[in-house]
Amino acid sequence: MADAPRVQGGCNPVANRTSGPHALGMTTATETPLRAAIIPVTPLQQNCSLVWCSKTMRGALIDPGGDLDRLKEAVARAGVTLEKILLTHGHIDHCGLAGELAKELALPIEGPHEDDRFWIARLADDSGRFGVPGRPFEPDRWLHDGDTVRFGEVEMNVIHCPGHTPGHVVFFHRATRFAFVGDVLFAGSIGRTDFPLGNHQDLLDAIVGKLWPLGDEVTFVPGHGPTSTFGRERQSNPFVGDAAIAAGQ
Ligand SMILES: [Zn+2]
Ligand SMILES: [Zn+2]
Repeated sequence: MADAPRVQGGCNPVANRTSGPHALGMTTATETPLRAAIIPVTPLQQNCSLVWCSKTMRGALIDPGGDLDRLKEAVARAGVTLEKILLTHGHIDHCGLAGELAKELALPIEGPHEDDRFWIARLADDSGRFGVPGRPFEPDRWLHDGDTVRFGEVEMNVIHCPGHTPGHVVFFHRATRFAFVGDVLFAGSIGRTDFPLGNHQDLLDAIVGKLWPLGDEVTFVPGHGPTSTFGRERQSNPFVGDAAIAAGQ
């Protein structure tokens, strides 16, 4: 963990999971420009991440699904100038109000992969179903496996990980071994695949074939719940741990 990104909010006594950013990691000896704070949003407690470059104080919101006032407050408190919105996938808790925020703040939206277009198109319908506000929008840039996204002087790799949704992407910051994985993988679990065009085998293949090779030391922020590392999940995850994968073969 020598070079994990420094996370703002962990030492703030008023910060907690429901009212503001909370800690992802620790202050480190090696200075890297990536900083991050998690702000859970919507009744589904989706982990929106505010990520920024400490050199330029320019950043992005990953999956600003709702609770826009709380997000804007967190951005102001961190002193970050937003450059863009990044999306992992088209589910309402991750992007229901991303289009509204983009319009209000004149920000471009990058992501997810275009295979999630049908999810974004049905946001208004899903709004009633989940009791979460949502409005369709058109991203400024659809992402592909191997693309990079930037804010300030920070660059992150885009990894297409279908299965939970067909157009799901993961953002990976190589220098700090940090990944934002949306609903692909959780601490002790994996994403649901019983939605339209979900595919359990695709999800397993993406996690084992694309995420595990990034390294056991990689810390990830899931779409819901606490952070973990790929190594810990390989040891103990009942769906994609090494033992579970071996038993399934
Ligand atoms: Zn989802
Ligand atoms: Zn979710």
